[in-house]
Amino acid sequence: MSETFKITKEFRFEIAHLLDGHDGKCQNLHGHGYVLQVELTDILCSEGPKEGMVFDFGDLKEIVEQEIVLPMDHSFIYDTRSERESKIAQVLIECHSKVYGVPFRTTAELIAQHIFKRLKQNNLPISAVRLWESAHSFCEYRP
Ligand SMILES: [Zn+2]
Repeated sequence: MSETFKITKEFRFEIAHLLDGHDGKCQNLHGHGYVLQVELTDILCSEGPKEGMVFDFGDLKEIVEQEIVLPMDHSFIYDTRSERESKIAQVLIECHSKVYGVPFRTTAELIAQHIFKRLKQNNLPISAVRLWESAHSFCEYRP
């Protein structure tokens, strides 16, 4: 029986969004300084340059920056199913501003799930994603 270890790396990025149809202030365009924690769970590598590691923190940083931080940071994330959000995105695209379209409402919960799935496709032994929308509110997605 091999012991498993968990490792976590943290990232930060800014995103603008709104929640179309929300019954409060989140229906307005606003932004968050998101904090993302990516948690990996695995047995330790038994040989070679990564011996004694679950995963090389440097490699994890590279993958998360390429797959998540670069495309999302300083973008307007929007629900492609929403006419109102798509209209705003269209104006931004015309003004050469960065957008990130997704086919779901851009809540912390669903963005966390999206990040998890996107990283899972990169064969990471990912076990959870925690996404802070503010200093006091976060979602953990752990399927
Ligand atoms: Zn928000």
